[in-house]
Amino acid sequence: MAPYRIRVVGDPVLRQRASEVTEIDGRLAKLAEDMIATMYDAPGVGLAAPQVGVEKRLFVYDVGEGPRTVVNPEIVEATGEWTYEEGCLSVPGLSWPITRPKQVLLRGLDLDGNELEIEADELEARCFQHEVDHLDGVLLIERLDPDTRREALRTIRERGISPSVLADAEPLGGLSLRR
Ligand code: ZN
Repeated sequence: MAPYRIRVVGDPVLRQRASEVTEIDGRLAKLAEDMIATMYDAPGVGLAAPQVGVEKRLFVYDVGEGPRTVVNPEIVEATGEWTYEEGCLSVPGLSWPITRPKQVLLRGLDLDGNELEIEADELEARCFQHEVDHLDGVLLIERLDPDTRREALRTIRERGISPSVLADAEPLGGLSLRR
């Protein structure tokens, strides 16, 4: 069983800007390890901390070369254009063709606190942009044109994709989640 439940669209934690990680320690390493297990269980190619309810700037990914973690990631260069059918574990079962830069240069830290600089292309670059968006509280549906976004929100409602009221989560305030 996955260590974490993945938060889905409608959960307020997905709309918040996550905070910089200030301490890289054993607890952070354990979080990353549990996020990787959750990502593989889903399965997905990337998972950002807010997707498991943790408002910290880190994500994990595996585009076929084994699992990696990036702490405090930042996209410092982006070039080209690439359209790719993009999905998100927080918007289960749906995907849309989305155009984004094709190559990016990502900077961040690894779990030992060493500086990382990764030049990425295509799927890896897409994954980085998608996960950094999560850390800024942005979901892929916000990358759709207005008509497609309206249609997407309708489909999400029709499919009943919403945060579980049975979750461990904080009080849900005035949000109406029962259908
Ligand atoms: Zn996502």
